Amino acid sequence: PVALYIVPTPIGNLGDLTPRAVEVLSAVSLIACEDTRHSGKLLSHFNITTRTMALHDHNERARAQWFIEKLQAGESVALISDAGTPLISDPGYHLVSQVREAGFQVSPLPGACAAITALSASGLPSDRFSFEGFLPAKDKARLDKLESLKEDSRTLIFYESPHRILPSLAALEQVFGAERPMVMARELTKTFETFLTGSISEIRAQVEADPNQQKGEIVLMCHGYTNADDDAIPAKALDTLKLLCTELP
Ligand code: SAM
Repeated sequence: PVALYIVPTPIGNLGDLTPRAVEVLSAVSLIACEDTRHSGKLLSHFNITTRTMALHDHNERARAQWFIEKLQAGESVALISDAGTPLISDPGYHLVSQVREAGFQVSPLPGACAAITALSASGLPSDRFSFEGFLPAKDKARLDKLESLKEDSRTLIFYESPHRILPSLAALEQVFGAERPMVMARELTKTFETFLTGSISEIRAQVEADPNQQKGEIVLMCHGYTNADDDAIPAKALDTLKLLCTELP
């Protein structure tokens, strides 16, 4: 069927492009990507010769019209990003919403996403989680963001870049406290895939001491808020205390 296909690409290991992704990318008449040179390498590796067109934050709204015209002509198109799932801390939101608004089908393929890949092996609670993307670059905004998440009981997932890893770990320790459990996943699906697990202060010390841990692509995950975080007295115990206070002389 005529559609805009949303196609995830590998986050490191080329073996993670699915056979269906290859099929769809070969069959469509135009592929929207972030960087035509970057994606060109991936596509040629799989002998996909479909034409590509760059779509980034600055031209996304205008370019969407191009893709809608293709769809109107009865031709399917696809969207990929540099790595992983489009729209997940990547461009595509405006394209998808405009294509939907124009009345065309948008059909997603399942595939690689760093956040889900990291969470699935982290050992942190995975029943409820919140994907927070990248933390703000500025110190004050970063601390404010973390303050707003401090009492969230869900597992929190952040993307991070190598040059901000140390300030981000410092901010996590400052706001969430030294003891909160966390996991740092690095270079997923690649040769130097690493999981560091421990308290925030332990991970920070480890990353600070080892420059190798400050390189590559990084997902940070923090355990959600628990009452133990602030030594709170359980509500039931407080009730009993109150009762005792009224009864005792
Ligand atoms: N759309 C992508 C996805 O589905 O995961 C994410 C794109 S975002 C611009 C790039 C960030 O994703 C990196 O800074 C890093 O935080 C995370 N990431 C991507 N690939 C990764 C990998 N192989 N290992 C760890 N983190 C990765």
